[in-house]
Amino acid sequence: MQYNEKLQTIISQVAEIAGYLWERGWAERNGGNISYNITEAVDDPIRRLPALSDRIVLPKTMTHLKENYFLVTGTGRRMRYVCSAPMENASIIRISADGTYYEIVAEKPIQPTSELPSHLTIHDYLLGQGRPNKAVIHTHPIELVAMTHNPDFLGKDVLSRLLWSMIPETRAFCPKGVGIVPYTLPGSLELAENTIRQLDEYDVVLWEKHGALAIGEDLIEPFDMIDTLSKSAKIYESACSMGFHPTGMTEAQMDELKQAFNL
Ligand SMILES: [Zn+2]
Repeated sequence: MQYNEKLQTIISQVAEIAGYLWERGWAERNGGNISYNITEAVDDPIRRLPALSDRIVLPKTMTHLKENYFLVTGTGRRMRYVCSAPMENASIIRISADGTYYEIVAEKPIQPTSELPSHLTIHDYLLGQGRPNKAVIHTHPIELVAMTHNPDFLGKDVLSRLLWSMIPETRAFCPKGVGIVPYTLPGSLELAENTIRQLDEYDVVLWEKHGALAIGEDLIEPFDMIDTLSKSAKIYESACSMGFHPTGMTEAQMDELKQAFNL
């Protein structure tokens, strides 16, 4: 199917990021998922597309998502194949005019990720708050997930401060730090609700013993934040494996960065 330039750019970006997730080792098997609000890129040919699926009822009415369109990765689909053939492994869905169900409209009837209720709940909430995010990404960054296995790191902003202190870029490019969601069943609405609470304060949230979820105005932004935090986690791990505990930047050095970069 031929898409307009704006939509084609989004599809290419989803493919690009899916490839990075696989290369990073963050997307074993069908791990991770992506959703992207493409409503602004939707034109009349897409609006006229007939439904390829039955009406799939949403777990609750998504008031702010009425008649919105999303590109979403498919359930059971591998990120490495989303990269090589995005529209064979993702689909475009249309939310109904009353916000109670969705239908798949393109390109093939690929069932969306089992995390779709979480993704849409998050999109609905953030849109309601007037926030400009369009993309939601969930992935399994190895070192960051490993760090959530240490209860000492799960207190509010403990991990944020540790990761910031590993390298100046993390303080500068992830100025809000990371939120933590205690272990919750994957795919559950409870996980979505717990995540939303953290998104009031953070753009990246770590799900204990599971993975990361991040939001952004496009997909590059949340990927870069997870990647930067992950770099910090790797530096921490490297120092520990060299047999010492890294000192980290001091509070004064981090405050200096905060002022210098207007964070
Ligand atoms: Zn996961």
